[in-house]
Amino acid sequence: MPNDVLHRFQLENAGVRGAIVRLDDAWRRIRANGHYAGPLAGILGEAVAASALFTSTIKFEGRLSIHLRDSGALKLLFADCTHDGILRGVARWEGDAPMMRIVPDPGACLAITIENAITDSRYQGLVAVEGDTLSDAFEGYFQRSEQLPTRIILAADDDCCAGLMLQEIAATGGESMGDEDGWNRVGHLLATLTPQELLTLAPEETLLRLFHDERVRMHPAQALQFGCTCSRERVEDMLRALGREENESVLAEQGSVDVTCEFCNRRYVLDAADVAVVFANVPTDGGPATRH
Ligand SMILES: [Zn+2]
Repeated sequence: MPNDVLHRFQLENAGVRGAIVRLDDAWRRIRANGHYAGPLAGILGEAVAASALFTSTIKFEGRLSIHLRDSGALKLLFADCTHDGILRGVARWEGDAPMMRIVPDPGACLAITIENAITDSRYQGLVAVEGDTLSDAFEGYFQRSEQLPTRIILAADDDCCAGLMLQEIAATGGESMGDEDGWNRVGHLLATLTPQELLTLAPEETLLRLFHDERVRMHPAQALQFGCTCSRERVEDMLRALGREENESVLAEQGSVDVTCEFCNRRYVLDAADVAVVFANVPTDGGPATRH
């Protein structure tokens, strides 16, 4: 049984569905790739766990990503997970490494994007961040963009990141599928879960401890693993978007254009001949026009 798993489940008495995720190996890979430590690792681990949890809420083939924007010194927080459980993440902090728990900036914005590979379509939901944890921000997202009462607990330490989410199952007419008090009752039970328990217990054990009176029905585990989709082709697309002039000035300065993938550290080196190929079919005056 792999350690990195996502389980969907239902609490049948309460009329609540949920998902629980635990990542060991994949999280250690992501953390090592970016040398993440301390509070920056903490918030990245939470985002990575959340990206896996959210794939359980929709039926799709493709990729779901989470991107926290405009959050002050937290310059970048991004995680994505595919429908078949390949995930990755990246975070960047400006200035000295943070010592305290990172709180999303009040002006921050949360984007959740679903790229559907089958229909080649893309859906993006955006909400302003409220609250001072990533869990608060995600709960607000589901409440406001999908009108779905949602509770989320996220946790991360050096060796593991984990998450648990609950959503009320609404029947037609908006009434709960469970008994009247179900949603409140499981909310109170969830509130007794400590981050430490979520990180150390097996998913089955966590659910049984919390919800033993709620008739827990667990779906088979989905295995998760770290993986990156970067490729030479994507790097070339990015360089093309930067424009010919920009690339030529880097070539003149450094002799080659070096690109290192932030997710997996794979290095792509293009010399002058490679760059010429990248721009072979681009009109000479086409470069700057593609700049934003
Ligand atoms: Zn990569």
